[in-house]
Amino acid sequence: MSDAESTLITGIGELVSNDGEPSGGQPDSSQPGSFAAMTDAALVIARGKVAWTGPASRAPAADTVVDVAGRAVLPGFADSHAHLVFAGERSAEFAARMAGRPYRAGGILGTVEATRAASDAALRANLRRLAAEMLRQGTTTFECKSGYGLTVPDEARGLALAAEVTPEVTYLGAHVVPPEFAADPAGYVDLVCGPMLDACAPAARWVDVFCEDGAFGADEAATVLAAGQAAGLHARVHANQLGPGPGVRVAAEAGAASADHCTFLTDDDVDTLASTPVVATLLPGVEFSCRQPFPQARRLLDAGAVVALATDCNPGSSFTSSMPFCIALAVREMGMTTEEAVWAATAGGARALRRTDIGHLGVGARADLILLDAPSHTYLAYRPGVPQIAAVWQAGNLVAGTTVNNAA
Ligand SMILES: [Zn+2]
Repeated sequence: MSDAESTLITGIGELVSNDGEPSGGQPDSSQPGSFAAMTDAALVIARGKVAWTGPASRAPAADTVVDVAGRAVLPGFADSHAHLVFAGERSAEFAARMAGRPYRAGGILGTVEATRAASDAALRANLRRLAAEMLRQGTTTFECKSGYGLTVPDEARGLALAAEVTPEVTYLGAHVVPPEFAADPAGYVDLVCGPMLDACAPAARWVDVFCEDGAFGADEAATVLAAGQAAGLHARVHANQLGPGPGVRVAAEAGAASADHCTFLTDDDVDTLASTPVVATLLPGVEFSCRQPFPQARRLLDAGAVVALATDCNPGSSFTSSMPFCIALAVREMGMTTEEAVWAATAGGARALRRTDIGHLGVGARADLILLDAPSHTYLAYRPGVPQIAAVWQAGNLVAGTTVNNAA
């Protein structure tokens, strides 16, 4: 398709646009609104963007016409939390955990060791394989963190590789304290905020910190975020994953875009998330893979917090790249409606990345969209584990799957 050509997608059984009225305001097609869906719809793509949406019976002419025969079209998923630059795998650790056996070797530091030892080509090949896997499953935007290098050159290398596949690159030098700094964690924070940041900031958009007992405390986390912000990066935080703690408060005080995990929240934390722009990003693949209690999405939504869903794809605690799987978990295990879960995986992810051009299909949005082999978004949770992503468009280009209806 050349830039000048337009494509009409018609016969859409359900078009999820997320361009409904935001709470307390008028719909604005330049950014996501509330969940909204239309039946018997059509959509026109031109110059990589959504040019028109409306009833199929009123669709304008276009250069190319695709009839999707009653299937659903959704915005592409925005996965706002992933760790894809790594080497090695930890299936034995997972199997031991599921069997209730202790597992000594490895953990994050095992991945750090493998990542440091890997060639650029090996890291790039693994990263590209995972990025392609995400795209086939409908993820058209994803965030990617460093955090398995933990030396100046290894973190800088991880971010340069991440920047090859996504603009949403996150500096996570403050993932864990590496073994060589075990006796001097303050020295490691100095490195993260000094020479490592200098080497990493040019390739990154975001700075993140794992604020948790055993990782980085509130003061250290605030120091890391402030240093990153002084270097032009925007903040996001790994918060309240393993127990109650200061992560959400630190995120709010730093003006972070997102507090991620939010598994163990006090009432004060919920109030903070509801009363500030910090998005609560929930990562149910982690609780599934670690056999832990799921985050309380219902409590956050009822309080008025903005909730996003993301995979946390990483080789240890959540080795899934599937947003449909996370949607199914959110609906089945976390009390979210199908509408809320799909919104959280699209518009919610966009909010967590402070993007207005994705996560919705209002006129002017980037034409990132998914064709489901199903008549409605509900099927993402109703048929868990079943591949239902028929086709994926990114900026108006068909990049995965086919629009041919095999069921017809
Ligand atoms: Zn993470």
